[in-house]
Amino acid sequence: MSRFFTERLSGLTPFTPGEQPRDMQYIKLNTNESPFPPSPAVVEAAKDEAGRLQLYSDPACRELTDKLASLYGVSPDQVILTNGSDEVLNFAFMAFADEEHPLVFPDITYGFYPVFAELNRIPYTEIPLKEDFSVDYRDYLNLGGKTVVIANPNAPTGLCLTLREVEEIVKTNPDGVVIIDEAYVDFGAESAVSLVDKYENLLVTQTFSKSRSLAGARLGFGIGSKALISDLHTVRYSTNPYNVNRMTAAAGYAALCDNDYYMDNCRAVMENRAYTTEALRELGFEVLPSLTNFVFAKSDHIGGEALYAELKRRGILVRHFSKASITDYNRITIGTREQMETFISTVKTILEELS
Ligand code: PMP
Repeated sequence: MSRFFTERLSGLTPFTPGEQPRDMQYIKLNTNESPFPPSPAVVEAAKDEAGRLQLYSDPACRELTDKLASLYGVSPDQVILTNGSDEVLNFAFMAFADEEHPLVFPDITYGFYPVFAELNRIPYTEIPLKEDFSVDYRDYLNLGGKTVVIANPNAPTGLCLTLREVEEIVKTNPDGVVIIDEAYVDFGAESAVSLVDKYENLLVTQTFSKSRSLAGARLGFGIGSKALISDLHTVRYSTNPYNVNRMTAAAGYAALCDNDYYMDNCRAVMENRAYTTEALRELGFEVLPSLTNFVFAKSDHIGGEALYAELKRRGILVRHFSKASITDYNRITIGTREQMETFISTVKTILEELS
């Protein structure tokens, strides 16, 4: 640390991204990316746009915004596009949370929430999950002006609240913004976008990183009431109006034109998730019922960290978290059927070698 780093920020504990090692070719099941490449039209659109990179991007992202709005059945002024959904989450924390509207989120959830809270000096409370790792929606009712953030489905558990439970949270917190982070919603969960016209305090965030194979392009979005979205644009124009670059905007637009390709890929991931869940259970694992592109699983025969290390030694990366309450588990991203078969047979070998 330099002696110039301000006192305000020098105490930050930054987010730890999943590892991206380069020492060998791994089967990467650790960062919840899609195992499928972008569609050919998306690659073409990005290449084509590369020839215009001397020009700034359109700060309004007009074409992509219109296309997204029509696909999601909202008006364009209910949409904001960002550099990954991490950015819309950060903007939302900046815009809607402070000392008077502190943040509330589950104690086991996306690791960026406490980091953004600390970066923006927003007090926060972490509410414990239930014993079965589910969110108890009743813990989030009537919080009187607090800002609620819930990943739905949650990560790394993969578990979901119902739309009725989400609505109850939004309805009983009319004086605070409720942010529903739907990064994984396309893998079988119910979206709260259908509620944005009914509740002025609801912001739904989603991403092109998982279901639309664009993690490396960095494209996320928020959908909410016009007033909330307008506030987020104020923050965006005060931070980086060109937050979505030209190639990414073109790729995102082309991805929405090819929506069927991506929804087919989501179905393949869901099938591979069912295969993986069943195969792990047959090997004696406890696997939480996931509605995402990953599963959260533990074995009584091998610890979470040991399994992670054994898999890594054999060329398969999964995600292990050292937090005490989940240290027995690993989060396993769902890949292609072939990748998951290799994963399962490798786990089987590791368990056989133990016994
Ligand atoms: N929310 C959750 C719950 C996530 O797991 C992630 C991905 N790590 C994100 C948001 C952010 O993803 P991105 O910035 O790639 O859209």
